[in-house]
This record gives sequence, C-alpha cells and structure tokens, in this order.
Amino acid sequence: MSEMNKSREDGETTIFKKIIDGEIPAEIVYQDDLCLAFHDVSPQAPIHVLLIPKKEIVNVAGFSQDDTHLAGHLMLTVDKVAKLLNIENGYRVVANCGADGGQSVDHLHLHILAGRALAWPPG
Ligand code: AMP
Repeated sequence: MSEMNKSREDGETTIFKKIIDGEIPAEIVYQDDLCLAFHDVSPQAPIHVLLIPKKEIVNVAGFSQDDTHLAGHLMLTVDKVAKLLNIENGYRVVANCGADGGQSVDHLHLHILAGRALAWPPG
C-alpha cells in the first residue's frame, strides 16, 4: 500500500471523525446517512465548506470498488450543498490528496470554495 492512501492502522482518530461523532462542534450545513458538510474553520474564500464521507476513507486514493456508490453520492451532494449555500454563480471543488497535494487531515474531504472569483492555477 502506498504512503498516500495508507489507512490509519494505528487507530488514530482524526478531527473530522470527532466532528462526525459529535465530540467536537462544527457549523454543519448539510448531512445525511453517508456524508456531512460543515464550514471550514479557516476559510480560504468567503464561503469555504468541507464535504466529507461519514465512512473513514483517507483520501480519493483510498476509495475501493466497494465505495462506488459513496463516491457518486459525494459528487451528487456537492451541488445540493452549493444550492443550500446559494453559490450557483460558481464554485470550486478541491480534494487535496497526500503530502504534495497539501492534505493535512487524513479523512477524505472535498473543499467547496466560493464567494469570489478564484484564481487559476492554484499555488
Ligand atoms: P486539507 O489541508 O486539504 O487536509 O484540509 C483540511 C481542512 O480542514 C483545512 O482547510 C482546515 O482549515 C480544516 N479544518 C481543520 N480542523 C477543522 C475543524 N475543527 N473544523 C472545520 N475545519 C477544520
């Protein structure tokens, strides 16, 4: 297994798992049985929401064939969250993956960024 998609074999609990379990607070935008969306604590745009699966998956490289439905559900939920946030004018979806991808929390999350014109390419 590569370093990038290794599971947390040491049983370390991520901050996002604690949010899922209600152990620490978050400003929740949306949730269903499979996923949870909440505002990022350190927003990089006027609107910055994180969409995460409730299942513990490290990042997009950690998806397995068994997660096909979940992966599709996450993508379909992005626009549902965007509509709740009234950001149909445009938004960016980002999934940082691994060290060079800039990932800091080892629980899959989609950044939904909006509220200003976003530059390209990213840094
Ligand atoms: P990444 O660097 O792609 O792994 O993104 C992790 C994101 O999680 C960062 O944008 C952080 O600001 C955000 N974050 C970390 N802790 C919390 C928290 N307790 N509540 C909300 N967002 C958080």
